[in-house]
Amino acid sequence: MQTERPVEKHYEAAPAIGDVKRTTCCVVGGGPGGAVMSLLLARAGVDVTLLEAHPDFDREFRGDTLHPSVMEILDQLGLAGRLLELRHTELRTFTLQTASGPFTPVDLGRLDTKYPYITMMPQTSFLEFVTGEAQRYPNFRLVMGARVRDLVEEDGVVRGVRYEAEDGLHEVRAVLTIGADGRGSRVRRLAGFELVKTSPPMDVLWFKLPREKDDPEGIVGRIGRGHIAIMLDREDYWQAGYVIPKGTYPELRREGIEALHRGFAELIPEFADRIELLKDWQQASLLSVESSRCPRWYRPGLLLIGDAAHVMSPVGGVGINYAIQDAVVAANVLSGPLGESQARLVDLEVRHLAAVQRRRELPTRLIQRAQALIQQQVLARALSSKELFAPPPLLRLLLRIPLVRTIPSRIVGFGFWPVRVKE
Ligand SMILES: Cc1cc2nc3c(=O)[nH]c(=O)nc-3n(C[C@H](O)[C@H](O)[C@H](O)COP(=O)(O)OP(=O)(O)OC[C@H]3O[C@@H](n4cnc5c(N)ncnc54)[C@H](O)[C@@H]3O)c2cc1C
Repeated sequence: MQTERPVEKHYEAAPAIGDVKRTTCCVVGGGPGGAVMSLLLARAGVDVTLLEAHPDFDREFRGDTLHPSVMEILDQLGLAGRLLELRHTELRTFTLQTASGPFTPVDLGRLDTKYPYITMMPQTSFLEFVTGEAQRYPNFRLVMGARVRDLVEEDGVVRGVRYEAEDGLHEVRAVLTIGADGRGSRVRRLAGFELVKTSPPMDVLWFKLPREKDDPEGIVGRIGRGHIAIMLDREDYWQAGYVIPKGTYPELRREGIEALHRGFAELIPEFADRIELLKDWQQASLLSVESSRCPRWYRPGLLLIGDAAHVMSPVGGVGINYAIQDAVVAANVLSGPLGESQARLVDLEVRHLAAVQRRRELPTRLIQRAQALIQQQVLARALSSKELFAPPPLLRLLLRIPLVRTIPSRIVGFGFWPVRVKE
């Protein structure tokens, strides 16, 4: 008879913990979702500790868009005016140069909002602004250079995290831990959640090109001939994205940087001299495009928001918007119960965490569906075509109907479910 051998377990010696701090909510990750989440909870009187792995908010490989919905949220908080005093540009339309002339599927100027544009602002400025506002509240603590390594768990309940900093290991104990640590979320992995992935048909090369004073403003985009090129006006320079069929980066590299110059210049000939300034692959970063969602966003004592719960495809540039909307809904639902936990030293009921997922899951799935549709019907076709993209005449016709015309702009500007801060 075979007997089952006991499983050998190897434990690392428990590292000495520098200190243990207590708070009500520990937010892991100071991206747009985590920063806004912390500000809203701090404002509601909840003790919050925000842990950010990087020593500063300087980041390049990121989106820099604040959609009308985010501006309305900031307006509600009385912060929009001051944010707009910081250096930014405003993007009102998305116009593509197509084989049948300019095509503008999104015109935010048609929306009934105080902010009918996308505010283009370096994410660094936005994050410094939001965390600066949170720091006005004595119940907010920000720890930079704090990389979360482990969850603290007791009887299946998450009771906080252990993080590594320059001066060693520390522990934060909390009633609720929020994983806002982005697409590669360690908190998600530690909690044992798997992502359901779909693979969009593309990857993006991301690089900077110099801007000259007579250049157009806003956004320049072309689709077709096997690629998509997009240039975002960042005032001092252009942020360029060159979309290639999924998995073809090694092939492109083998062909040499000249192949990238040729492909880009075929789509945007007016920038042919500028793309030649890209001499080395090191000057470009590869974004492996992913679209995924976590079937479950919570466990007792733990909630995921933003990219940690759902990674968005770059179509429409909605990732920041959705991460911030998650934060607003989570704060609306949880501020009261967290205040209760803080006052009466009781656990947070799981039903409140379930309510956050319930409210945000449908809008997330809907936008991912819409992105998948655009990827299949437009982008995949353009990437496999030798011609410049021409939008179907029926689509052009539909977008002339006033009621229909605002639908894409509303979805890009506000998502499927606009959210407001509950006062
Ligand atoms: C190249 C690129 C371009 C993009 N362009 C756009 C765009 O134009 N518009 C748009 O809306 N979206 C864009 N996105 C997507 C957008 O950046 C994300 O959807 C958005 O930032 C998600 O916000 P988040 O707060 O959930 O996560 P993130 O912004 O990813 O923030 C996560 C934070 O957690 C920190 N962190 C990670 N691990 C740990 C840890 N173990 N401990 C502590 N901290 C940790 C990270 O340092 C980071 O600061 C782009 C993404 C990329 C990569």
